[in-house]
Amino acid sequence: MTSDPRVSFKQVFPQIEDIKVEVEQIGPPTYSPTRKEWNTRCWPEQLVKCHNRVCPKGFLNLWEIIGRMVDQRQTERQDETMCPGYEGSPKLRRVYGKCLNMFTYKIRIKYRQDFGS
Ligand SMILES: [Zn+2]
Repeated sequence: MTSDPRVSFKQVFPQIEDIKVEVEQIGPPTYSPTRKEWNTRCWPEQLVKCHNRVCPKGFLNLWEIIGRMVDQRQTERQDETMCPGYEGSPKLRRVYGKCLNMFTYKIRIKYRQDFGS
């Protein structure tokens, strides 16, 4: 999966006509929960940054999940995954431990009828 910021969602996933994505981040009580949504007016961003302020490098790779769904022509997926990041100093020179933030996501895709069937 490319991380080139010049590549747009529509270029990577031309077969998607409509999409709705909801991502919620639910960590320990010290991380306040956040919820974000994307759709065709605001295409999903590739990497959803972890909202835990002491987890500088954690993220959810949304495009990778969507890519797997597209490969299998899946239209709906709901799942949760732990943040792969670590808590530590801003550049992670010191690491305190695994980030305990949890991403839960719900994705709905409508595919274009005229595309590659
Ligand atoms: Zn994190």
